[in-house]
Amino acid sequence: MTTADLKARIAATLRPDVQRAQAYVVPAVVPNAVKLDAMENPYRLPQALQQALGQRLGQVAINRYPGPSLPALKAALAEHAQLPAGCELMLGNGSDELITLLTLACMRPGATVLAPEPGFVMYHMAAQWQGLPYVGVPLRPDFSLDAEAMVAAVQRHRPALTFLAYPNNPTANLFDPQAMQRVIDQVGAQGHGWVVVDEAYQPFASDSWMARMAHQPHVLVMRTLSKFGLAGIRLGYLCGHAPVIAQLDKVRPPYNVSALNAEAALFALEHAAHYTEQAAAIRQSREALLQQLAQLPGCTVFPSQGNMVLMRVPDASRWHQHLMHQGILVKNVSTMHPLLSECLRLTVGTPEENTALIQALKAAP
Ligand SMILES: *Cc1c(COP(=O)(O)O)cnc(C)c1O
Repeated sequence: MTTADLKARIAATLRPDVQRAQAYVVPAVVPNAVKLDAMENPYRLPQALQQALGQRLGQVAINRYPGPSLPALKAALAEHAQLPAGCELMLGNGSDELITLLTLACMRPGATVLAPEPGFVMYHMAAQWQGLPYVGVPLRPDFSLDAEAMVAAVQRHRPALTFLAYPNNPTANLFDPQAMQRVIDQVGAQGHGWVVVDEAYQPFASDSWMARMAHQPHVLVMRTLSKFGLAGIRLGYLCGHAPVIAQLDKVRPPYNVSALNAEAALFALEHAAHYTEQAAAIRQSREALLQQLAQLPGCTVFPSQGNMVLMRVPDASRWHQHLMHQGILVKNVSTMHPLLSECLRLTVGTPEENTALIQALKAAP
């Protein structure tokens, strides 16, 4: 088969929307860069824990399909997250997979996905690949939730899935819980659909919907160990009332979480105190960083309840380039949404990384 034949075969076989799409860009690895572009925890495990983890992983029966450690992992997560009585959780290969499984499970004719924007791109992407219409409702210019517009959109589109990230990405703020409750009540009143509260940044936030879910069965709470400090192992979990989780779990590929992921997650939860300290250190660094960023002339810094900061700068593209030349990677989000014009999103790093960032920003052109 010639290259031309292969191209013709691709053109005749794959979905046209897949062929037209841009691939999700995973930022290239730059050696020795100060990496503040993906909301990763800047801290690695201390040497002693690295060795202990190596021992543990070495003992896992990787000749077997994953399974034996999953009940223990679920129990540890339920305890860690303080899962309410009557609720269950299901595991995903990162919450990205859970978002895909949610859209897959709800894919009925007319099912729509709704989310405020700017928001996490995976909600839109997952809907698109499952062929579900997606509706984005603009936030207010200060990135607060526009409850009126959201309620009107729920009435109009009757969504199967409404995603609310709490805190939101890339804006880093917590929405007003009363505004969220109005949206949740509207979805409750329509008799079908779920509100998925995405709490990826929960370790850094001052509030959660986990306890509020207990008396609202149409609310699901999604969490992940990624921002907690384990982005590399890919483990997300979706919490909800037992009957709905039992249904959603049917579309989960049976071995989606590897035995090594599961063991590493269990190990991390056994050392949760260590991660709690890291999260506290990051929250503290965030406050210091917010104060210093706020003093930069010509910049607007938005409040943060995550391990990231959104800021508007005089020229996002130029500042982004400048930081890159200084070996500091951040994300230029200015073209993601009109409300984000001239905005950069940066991860809170170690105190040293944050100092390097501030120095570089002070010298920005
Ligand atoms: C980072 C992030 C996630 C995490 O996805 P994983 O697949 O678990 O790494 C989920 N939701 C939001 C809003 C995020 O920013």
